[in-house]
Amino acid sequence: MDKNSSFGTTSKCRPEDISHVWNTVKVPLGQRSYDIFIGPGLLTELPQRLQRLGIKNRLFVVTDSNVEDLLGQDLLPILKGAGYQVEMLSFPAGEESKNMDTVIDLARKLIGFGADRKSVLLALGGGVTGDICGFLASIYMRGIPFIQLPTSLLAQVDSSVGGKTGVDLPEGKNLIGTFAQPLAVFADIGVLTTLPARELRNGIAEIVKYGMIMDYSLFKFLEEKWWDVVNLEPEATSYLVKRSCEIKADVVSRDEKEGGLRRILNFGHTIGHAVEAVSGYSIPHGEAVAIGMVAISKISVARGLMAHEELSRLKGLLEQFKLPTVIPKEMERQSIIGHMKRDKKVQDGKLHFVLTKGIGKAFIASDIGGEELELALSP
Ligand code: NAD
Repeated sequence: MDKNSSFGTTSKCRPEDISHVWNTVKVPLGQRSYDIFIGPGLLTELPQRLQRLGIKNRLFVVTDSNVEDLLGQDLLPILKGAGYQVEMLSFPAGEESKNMDTVIDLARKLIGFGADRKSVLLALGGGVTGDICGFLASIYMRGIPFIQLPTSLLAQVDSSVGGKTGVDLPEGKNLIGTFAQPLAVFADIGVLTTLPARELRNGIAEIVKYGMIMDYSLFKFLEEKWWDVVNLEPEATSYLVKRSCEIKADVVSRDEKEGGLRRILNFGHTIGHAVEAVSGYSIPHGEAVAIGMVAISKISVARGLMAHEELSRLKGLLEQFKLPTVIPKEMERQSIIGHMKRDKKVQDGKLHFVLTKGIGKAFIASDIGGEELELALSP
């Protein structure tokens, strides 16, 4: 990974021709409303952006060990140079760190640094960092403000927006957490160039999901511009992050705490999570979601809600991005079903799935029977 090329702007994007790839998306949540700023070079100008938000407080950058080296070491002097009092706290990169021990360790470091209720946490990293830091902020001294600085594609299009925070338990992922909205999100698309290809694909799977649930034209854009997408062309990347955030912001603002509509964001996730868990997490989240989206769409086709050709397009698009579309042959179907039944999305003993009536039109189905499920999990 080339550290020097990662910070600030993308190599394909000179400062004078980037204004058209800057976007802002609002998340309207009354007093908890905030903006998502999208574009290359945002981290370089973070001090000015924070000043515009009226933030003069002590800052604490929370990051993982990879992103600390790649970006944190550059961000710190930029913030200090602008007069901010800032410290950096890091934890070992990876989902294994997303637990209470890490939260307690970070909280004790904050105490050691003298962080108080006016301090602001900056979550610099992927979804793991965002979830840990948001959770820590929501419980440290009964709650302090935080800002999301997402650096993985998945975090930029999904996890940094919407206010779900939390950590895992040995019994399952995200079982402890809070709803806590950030003060703002700064998604610097220039930092994505150092992201490993597999991590990029994880984010792309979530963008395909947004197309499938709510936006046919986003789906078509991915089909037509897939080459620009994998090459992180600034215009295509900025559009994808913006459109994904718009869709998530729209859903979250209508159903902040997942009482109903927000569940459509789980398209492909119920089966996906089970596949991920049964694989012992050797299949990463985005790949599992890709498999889950194809599996669940088989039910839409069988019910006559979705044309077979649309399922083929979904498969074709995922394959274009080198995402898997079938459950590994050796994976026990009964283990997948068993895992789904223990999922957090089970309510009153009922499993809720998200189906589509064709590309771009999702709805929640609570009446999926055993035979349909077998069809979904069939090879
Ligand atoms: P991650 O945070 O582990 O990041 C993936 C890897 O990429 C890590 O090794 C990280 O160090 C590295 N990385 C991050 N930015 C980089 C960069 N610019 N260059 C090089 N490497 C970089 O994982 P993730 O895929 O970003 O997020 C997954 C997590 O997000 C899961 O824990 C999941 O539960 C959570 N999530 C939360 C929500 C939510 O609404 N809160 C939604 C979806 C997913």
